[in-house]
Amino acid sequence: MVELQSALQAVDPEVFAIIRDEEARQSRQIDLIASENTASRAVMEASGSVFTNKYAEGYPGRRYYAGCEHIDRVERLAQERARALFPGAEHINVQPHSGSQANQAVMLAVLEVGDTILAMDLNQGGHLSHGHPLNLAGKLYRPVYYGVDRETERLDYDAVAALARAHRPKLIICGASAYSRVIDFERFGAIAREVDAVLLADIAHIAGLVAAGLHPSPIPHADFVTTTTHKTLRGPRGGMVICRERYAKALDRTVLPGLQGGPLCHQIAARAVAFREAATEGFRQYQRQIVANAAALAAALAARGFRIVSGGTDNHLFLVDLRPRGLTGNVAERALERAGIIVNKNLIPYDPEKPLVTSGIRIGTPTVSSRGMTLADMERIADWIDRVLSAPEDERLASEVGEEVAAFASRFPLSTSYV
Ligand code: PLP
Repeated sequence: MVELQSALQAVDPEVFAIIRDEEARQSRQIDLIASENTASRAVMEASGSVFTNKYAEGYPGRRYYAGCEHIDRVERLAQERARALFPGAEHINVQPHSGSQANQAVMLAVLEVGDTILAMDLNQGGHLSHGHPLNLAGKLYRPVYYGVDRETERLDYDAVAALARAHRPKLIICGASAYSRVIDFERFGAIAREVDAVLLADIAHIAGLVAAGLHPSPIPHADFVTTTTHKTLRGPRGGMVICRERYAKALDRTVLPGLQGGPLCHQIAARAVAFREAATEGFRQYQRQIVANAAALAAALAARGFRIVSGGTDNHLFLVDLRPRGLTGNVAERALERAGIIVNKNLIPYDPEKPLVTSGIRIGTPTVSSRGMTLADMERIADWIDRVLSAPEDERLASEVGEEVAAFASRFPLSTSYV
């Protein structure tokens, strides 16, 4: 790594300097973006390795290129390690370039243009790739949405079942980007079977929790499971699909040649490393810390008068409804950013505001937990958030807090060895 960095400095000091600035930013700030994490040095080394030079269209043992013996080895290793992390997985494809492409591959494997899909409303926690009108899924298929109950702000499974009976979707998608409660995959499985739909569980956000046994696994209940590898799983950026053996051929064909050409071999090697790290007791302890930190931060903010959507969290994230404080998500996001606290504005269920304004912020603890922050630190973070949001236009206050945040955050290493 050191060698590569100095080569970069010599060849392109401009980009080198930008990367250094980004490293300093990440190190000085507190990152509460629920979908981000800090991959280990080992993962980044594999990601920056000579595998970036290799073309390997096809799958291990069946490539369209020569010279694939080593990518075959590392891809098989990634598959085996993923299989061990997610018991019951029958077939695994580690090639999707992203979580969105993993979802597209599943849709292309089981749907015809115009088919109906039933997915979580994007305004209530679902993901763009599940059927946003501007996304391929929204253009090719006919999305129908389910959401959360207005009172409990939790998934309303009876309403999901009623929609499934009324619309007879060919595919049901469960899984979310902004939902803080346990998802009942077994119930989704029963609903899908009742209406003869294929079930896709998108565990992009909670994959690390599932691997650590802290969230029930969808594998016994879903035909397909998709994930990203860079969120709670703490690997390199990328996607993955797990499916039943009977869909294996169709899926592999939709990933290549359906959607992609050459796989990102360096990212496959890095995924293999991340899956090894995720099989350790240290990783399981880390996932427990993420969940404990999220619960503690939500409770600390609630104690300071913030309303937490659904009253709390079971996983790595939660939403804060800022309306009782008279704030919007974008104002809060900007004010906190000035103080070095990075969150994202987020629609809350039944949000009256537009997506670029929003009434809420989403807060997640994967990164702060990777950096070694624990329960007492969540109290300090809640204090800073409370202080900044009590006077969001006060730039002096923001820079005062920003200095405290930078001094604090710099004590926690950014990227390190986790095993
Ligand atoms: N699925 C869910 C539930 C997500 O939250 C995300 C990303 O935020 C994705 C899929 C897409 O992943 P990517 O950004 O790698 O396309």
